[in-house]
Amino acid sequence: MALDSACLFCRIILGEIPADIVLRNDNVVAFNDINPQAPTHVLIVPRLHVENAGELAQISPSITADLFNAAAEIAAQRALSGHRAVFNTGADAGQSVFHAHLHLLGGRALAWPPG
Ligand code: 5GP
Ligand code: ZN
Repeated sequence: MALDSACLFCRIILGEIPADIVLRNDNVVAFNDINPQAPTHVLIVPRLHVENAGELAQISPSITADLFNAAAEIAAQRALSGHRAVFNTGADAGQSVFHAHLHLLGGRALAWPPG
């Protein structure tokens, strides 16, 4: 669906809830995570309400690619020496906001595997 007025990230996209916007284009909005887990922790979200990355990929491979391109652009702007781009899908994977979002993490050494 387009946007859902009950969804936190839709409300950020609409400007109803403030966020520290990092990048914005026709298809995606990127903003700093409110509880950063690394010096760079940006959430990159599509401007349409879909629950998770799999649904987004089914509906629009092109917008899915736009999320990754935004991540690469932000990482390049900040000259990150390495970064991680991750989608959590489902509560067991740590997803707490059910509007698909790509986490971009960087600016410190990142451990593997994640918890
Ligand atoms: P998830 O746990 O669903 O993969 O990621 C949701 C992310 O959204 C979390 O990292 C959390 O810190 C972030 N978050 C939750 N509420 C807000 C908010 O109101 N503003 C911003 N900027 N980030 C939020
Ligand atoms: Zn939404």
